[in-house]
Amino acid sequence: MLTKHFDHWPTRVSTSLTVPETTLFDNLAVTAKRYPGKKAITYYGASLTYAQLLEEVNQLAGFLQEKLAVNKGERVMLYMQNSPQFVIGYYAILRANAIVVPINPMTTMEEMRFYVNDCEIRNALVSQELYSKIEPLLTTTSLEQLVVAAYSDYLESSNLERIPDEVKQPRMVITKENHYLWKEAVSANYSPKPDEGLADDLAVMPYTSGTTGLPKGCMHTHRTVQANTYGGYHWHNATSDANCLATLPLFHVTGMVHSMHIPILSGATIVMMTRWDREYARQIIAESGITHWVNISTMLIDFLANPLLQKEHLSTLMSISGGGAPLPAAVGEKLFNFTGLRFVEGYGLTETIAQTHFNPPDRPKLQCLGVPSFDVDARIIDPNTGHQLGLGQEGEIVVNGPQVFVGYYNRDEDNQQSFIEIEGKQFFRTGDIGRYDDEGYFFIVDRVKRMINASGYKVWPTEVESLLYKHPAVLQACVVGVPDVRRGETVKAFIILSGEHIEKTSAEEIIEWSKEQMAAYKYPRQIEFRESFPTTMSGKILWRKLQEEERQKASEV
Ligand code: AMP
Repeated sequence: MLTKHFDHWPTRVSTSLTVPETTLFDNLAVTAKRYPGKKAITYYGASLTYAQLLEEVNQLAGFLQEKLAVNKGERVMLYMQNSPQFVIGYYAILRANAIVVPINPMTTMEEMRFYVNDCEIRNALVSQELYSKIEPLLTTTSLEQLVVAAYSDYLESSNLERIPDEVKQPRMVITKENHYLWKEAVSANYSPKPDEGLADDLAVMPYTSGTTGLPKGCMHTHRTVQANTYGGYHWHNATSDANCLATLPLFHVTGMVHSMHIPILSGATIVMMTRWDREYARQIIAESGITHWVNISTMLIDFLANPLLQKEHLSTLMSISGGGAPLPAAVGEKLFNFTGLRFVEGYGLTETIAQTHFNPPDRPKLQCLGVPSFDVDARIIDPNTGHQLGLGQEGEIVVNGPQVFVGYYNRDEDNQQSFIEIEGKQFFRTGDIGRYDDEGYFFIVDRVKRMINASGYKVWPTEVESLLYKHPAVLQACVVGVPDVRRGETVKAFIILSGEHIEKTSAEEIIEWSKEQMAAYKYPRQIEFRESFPTTMSGKILWRKLQEEERQKASEV
């Protein structure tokens, strides 16, 4: 039921939506009853119907409970790229009344060790190309058991053109103790126990670094995720006729909600790609009659640059939307001139399981976060004093709404710092600086938090710096985000070398070394050696000053 109310105009211009007290698994169960024969997933020429998807989910949930002894409320890691197994694994963990911990496939083994230890993982579902990054943790952490999936498990033919190598690879042979093959797990005929899931149970715990420091698990319940699943369903005008192209990574909240939960709620088809390939995307959009596509600016820029792309290839597209990073105005215009479609931008965070704001599809504004989503109260405050600011004034965006997480796992101090009370309500501090206009549309202008947004992947300078300090030649490091045409922002490290290394160390060497230490999206693409850094009286490096210098340089080019 939609009811309009415009109290707090214009900071709150949101409508209200009644969301049922159900779990995410209930969405799948209902859809599979309504549309059993309909394609739920298509994957490089293969497909699974909703009845088959539900069957695989139930089988795997039974295996998790009976064979691996997964308990209610236990955290289970999901470490794989976009694939049928990601969806099956996610919903099976939920059906087992456990909590999904989705991990970025680019994560290195040492980063993985942190996650496993941080939330005491015992069981993980992993795809075989990532196996070597998690297997060594079996003997040195709480990790006990692995279910290993081959993407080729669900392929009908591996001879198709343009299938990524990791998808074609035949199933590996593993005979080690506590290792289970996916294909065997889903055909072992275990039945899940009665479903005890409730709306307020934890459902998923995606990691983010939040506004400070090290990665933290964001605790989301079925209720918080359902708020955005139902909200997005109304936003996209989703129906069971939709064909949704899933190119954003499903481990991240935008892909998770918009390319997985919403299509499943609506009985639509998820057309899946494991690896971004603009030519395959062009072909599949035309062949599958894609109607909805949620993506990000870097992908869209690459897609529109394909010389083979013609207007008629996109004739079925009804909606192109996205969030997570700003869309350059020129790209939005190019898209509009080519397709007649406006890119519909949204805004949100891992802590809010995707959107807190979205642009009304019939009246989007360019380079704009949109208006507050259903039941969201968004305000602008002075980040230093906490005082509320008004129309057009720039300050920190804070949000109260049904999608706001219940807190970071085991991080009491961060939880206290992340919220502020206004008029008796708790507001989450986004760490983003923004403003709203006289129609209640919000815009982002900067960040309070020290984060780099590289193609939508969030890089935390303090984490990169702490890894750089492991290099013997690095005396001091300061990492900042610098403007980049392709990635929006990219990672630059200013480094002071220690005396004996000054002559011997090159920027290339540090870049090569960094690639080994951290996930591909994090390592510094640019290095500049300095003899000193600007600092405060107390010796703190003035990273903002270095960042401003870089922005200034870029604006002069
Ligand atoms: P994440 O937790 O990875 O989803 O990152 C959340 C951050 O992404 C926000 O705090 C913003 O800094 C940024 N972000 C999200 N949506 C947008 C958008 N539409 N435009 C600009 N930045 C965005």
